[in-house]
Amino acid sequence: MNNLVERKCSICGDSYSVPKNETWKILCPKHTEEYYIPLRRCKSYREICNLIELAILMNDLDILRRNFRRPSMSSPPGIRVSRSLSELLHIKS
Ligand SMILES: [Zn+2]
Repeated sequence: MNNLVERKCSICGDSYSVPKNETWKILCPKHTEEYYIPLRRCKSYREICNLIELAILMNDLDILRRNFRRPSMSSPPGIRVSRSLSELLHIKS
């Protein structure tokens, strides 16, 4: 239960302790909350690892932010927003 291991955050390099069985915790608590949690909603663990690696390599954490929502080929966010807006207006009128 209290079997903690020390890891280094891939993003900031800070050391942090995590339970040994929580192998998915590859970032410090702060960056887990900031990047991992939002990414996990639409990405697999492996995809997130790759994205973090890429972001560090490119020195551009915005790569992670841009992936918080999966871009869809058939309905770009703009169209989805305007459609839901018109739906909203339709319901209201
Ligand atoms: Zn960190």
